Amino acid sequence: MTDRLYYNDSFLYDFDAEVHSVVETPRPAVILDRTAFYPTSGGQIHDTGWLVFADKKHRVTEVVDAEDGRVIHYLEAPLKDVQPGARLRGEVDAVRRRDHMQQHSAQHVLSAAFIRLLNMRTVSFHMADDYCSIDLDTPSLSKEQVESAERLTNEIILENRAVDIRFVTREEADRLGLRKLPPAERDQLRLIDIHEFDLTACGGTHVNRTGQIGGVFLRKTEKVRQGYRVEFVAGQRAVTTARRDFNTLTETAGLFSAHIYEIPQHTRRFLEDIRSLRKQVEQSQEELVAAQAASLLAETSESDGRKVVVRTFSGRDLNFIKLLAQKLTRQSPVVIALLATESPQPALVFAQSAGQHYDMGKLLKETLAKLGGRGGGSKDLAQGGVPQSAGLAAALAAAVQSLTP
Ligand SMILES: [Zn+2]
Repeated sequence: MTDRLYYNDSFLYDFDAEVHSVVETPRPAVILDRTAFYPTSGGQIHDTGWLVFADKKHRVTEVVDAEDGRVIHYLEAPLKDVQPGARLRGEVDAVRRRDHMQQHSAQHVLSAAFIRLLNMRTVSFHMADDYCSIDLDTPSLSKEQVESAERLTNEIILENRAVDIRFVTREEADRLGLRKLPPAERDQLRLIDIHEFDLTACGGTHVNRTGQIGGVFLRKTEKVRQGYRVEFVAGQRAVTTARRDFNTLTETAGLFSAHIYEIPQHTRRFLEDIRSLRKQVEQSQEELVAAQAASLLAETSESDGRKVVVRTFSGRDLNFIKLLAQKLTRQSPVVIALLATESPQPALVFAQSAGQHYDMGKLLKETLAKLGGRGGGSKDLAQGGVPQSAGLAAALAAAVQSLTP
């Protein structure tokens, strides 16, 4: 079993230790007799840092809790010429550790606040690189409830209460009425005691006084299978997150030449304008297409009792030529419309007035086959897309040829 120095002092970053064993494959690793490195467990992620041997620093990239009680330090590169029994120095990355202590301690205060105010139990805790989350056992969670828990948590932080580590027997722990008891049977339990606010069993690293957490900011909440997930950031992370939020809002406000607090009202107005403009565009297009259909019909002469309209457009989308085909075939009972557009996306629409005897779906499929396109439709209206505009005009001409009276 590795002697875990962080159990008694979370602020111990430098330590001396003796090499217990060295592993080279599949990943280089070292096991020491004692360590201040925290291994990933209980929702808290591992420390990183360095092992210093013969004046050379070796990067510790991951720390894992082995089932037999040993702590494994994974290294970036193999530790050469180091035998069991050698002495070395460990240096925990203090910035990363302090961040983890802030997040993890914040979680204790926050979980206790949700219990005290709302009787909502924390069922799990997750720590990611940029935010943390707890899952609360509750069928509902309001914005006001979230804000009340945030307020109480920050009050407890401001009061700078002592956070003590206590070791007790299982029997004593049962009597103390802990917020959370570990499921495994152990002779001795490590308790984290936030003075007159929270008492729970935990093996992680925590601050000495709540003031060191700095502050807590609750963010997204979402419904999950077993309740509600609440994301939060604490300490320096809260400042970093608020700074990023502010920069994003400032950039957005700049687009509207407005203050950041006016963004919602400007955005709503902007969306209303877009909806109204879109309606106007659709209406104008409808009118334009109707006029264009009328003029196309006027300039197309009737022969063998039908009017064949063949046109290739560019800068018009599939919706435009489809609408035009519908207008043409509705405005006259004798129309065959073979329309194409070259851009933005090459496409075809074949249509006939109701009662005409051709099969537009079949004709379109034959034409698409020559162009390597895909599509289909009914006897009276069919549409499809093709990969490129080359050959469109020739394909349309061939389709017209196949229309025997
Ligand atoms: Zn803890």
